[in-house]
Amino acid sequence: MDLNFTPEELAFRQEVREFVAQSLPADIQHKVLNGLVLHSDDYVRWQKILHAKGWGGTGWKKEFGGPGWSTTQQYIFEEELAAAGAPRMVPFGLKMVAPVIMQYGSPAQQERFLPKILAADEWWCQGYSEPGSGSDLASVKMRAVRDGDFYICNGQKTWTTLGQYADWIFCLVRTDPEAKAQRGISFLLIDMKSPGITVRPIITMDGAHEVNEVWFEDVRVPVENRVGEENAGWTYAKFLLGHERTNIAGIGIAKRELARLKRIASLETKNGKPLLKDPMFASRVAQVEIDLTALEITNLRVLSAEAAHRAPGPEASILKIKGTEIQQAITELLVQAVGPYGLQLRREAMAAGYQGDAVGPFYSVPLAANYLNMRKLSIYGGSNEIQKNIISQMILGL
Ligand SMILES: Cc1cc2nc3c(=O)[nH]c(=O)nc-3n(C[C@H](O)[C@H](O)[C@H](O)COP(=O)(O)OP(=O)(O)OC[C@H]3O[C@@H](n4cnc5c(N)ncnc54)[C@H](O)[C@@H]3O)c2cc1C
Repeated sequence: MDLNFTPEELAFRQEVREFVAQSLPADIQHKVLNGLVLHSDDYVRWQKILHAKGWGGTGWKKEFGGPGWSTTQQYIFEEELAAAGAPRMVPFGLKMVAPVIMQYGSPAQQERFLPKILAADEWWCQGYSEPGSGSDLASVKMRAVRDGDFYICNGQKTWTTLGQYADWIFCLVRTDPEAKAQRGISFLLIDMKSPGITVRPIITMDGAHEVNEVWFEDVRVPVENRVGEENAGWTYAKFLLGHERTNIAGIGIAKRELARLKRIASLETKNGKPLLKDPMFASRVAQVEIDLTALEITNLRVLSAEAAHRAPGPEASILKIKGTEIQQAITELLVQAVGPYGLQLRREAMAAGYQGDAVGPFYSVPLAANYLNMRKLSIYGGSNEIQKNIISQMILGL
């Protein structure tokens, strides 16, 4: 197993670095590097820049307009983007529904949906979870009843991330209530402008409007918007979840945030010295850095196995748990680094260009909100408890 990057991969890293340095708009970069609020326009603008370069769909094959990169190239690309302060690519279209449409969609669906996803002309959201169905996803209850060339949909989805901007939602719906849980599910693509859809905000504990409830009341969905076979949706749902968990370790983002932590801890002081020189604080920062380095090596081992055409197995669960724990630990240290200023939760001050009263240094403003927001990492994408179940069964054989 060779964990070093090849000369070609290093040259590719350099090419990405130079492109991002030239092309990433300064205002967007400023927001990302300082933890300020991003708007939907920021994500769209950046995606359009990447698309114009031919780098819009990192994991996409060339036949669908992607660059046809290896997994290692995708990893390098995402690491460089994170380090430079580019926004995360919104995954629901590009990384979730697009692979499903490529693999299982009809040619008409591929032609209709994929180009608009790549060009960021249409925003997608994910309609999997329901109030009673999260970890136990196969219990979804939203009903779709066939009526000629349409399905009539009734029910509720929840935790729908950025659904307030979405043009389309992909949903798991129950088409056969009599069948065994996994068997009676279908996968529908639903236009968010359809009559009968209501989006209601859920405000999370950091004060953000990031997630929503989406209600469906007699919503008519053309049968041609079903992906694949009726009642076979669970197969497509699982395929999508596999894509949801790629690059879940978030190593690039963790490295960037660790650098931010060190920067802030060298500006803050304790007993007249930089906080970063305080033995207790420094040892906690060092522990996170050690964990991150170990995780990076594990990630490279998974990439190396993938390059040898071995599909990632339950290792993805290790990456998810450790990656999210590290990101959460960094947000905790960031809050502690600024002392009492880490208690402020003032969303208005997190807008770029805020001119109101300052409470503490500029960099302290978003830290509490980011700390609270990052609690989500161990819940979504398959909760960390569920990942531990997978490890105990698949790796430890318990
Ligand atoms: C910020 C955020 C954004 C999200 N965005 C989306 C989205 O865009 N689209 C979407 O469809 N969903 C989304 N989700 C939903 C997310 O996928 C679910 O929250 C997640 O799957 C957990 O389901 P649940 O909330 O119903 O919790 P539950 O499944 O009810 O779990 C509650 C607790 O019990 C634990 N638990 C459950 N089952 C087991 C078990 N078998 N063994 C051990 N422990 C267990 C869980 O780990 C958790 O701690 C989002 C969630 C959050 C928090």
